[in-house]
Amino acid sequence: MTDRDLANLLEVVVCPACHSPLVEGDEILICTHESCRLGFPIREQIPMLLVEEAESLETDNWRSGVGDAARSGPLPGDDEAGELTTGDGLEGESA
Ligand SMILES: [Zn+2]
Repeated sequence: MTDRDLANLLEVVVCPACHSPLVEGDEILICTHESCRLGFPIREQIPMLLVEEAESLETDNWRSGVGDAARSGPLPGDDEAGELTTGDGLEGESA
């Protein structure tokens, strides 16, 4: 597998845990989601895209690994975002 192959792969694969895009780090693929921060090791040039093989990265390591690709907010896997949380904590009711 060449670097080009890996780049192509990164266009189609997502984090198996949260379905966020992955970025390539140093012998690791890093989930770009702040709430997830899983790192998937690349062994013999083969990415181990298994949650069981992944390690949770420290926030600092994760941030330096993903850089501008970092994302936050709801996990993309949460399709059932049915409940709107519009409450800003404003209680307009008065007695
Ligand atoms: Zn993830």
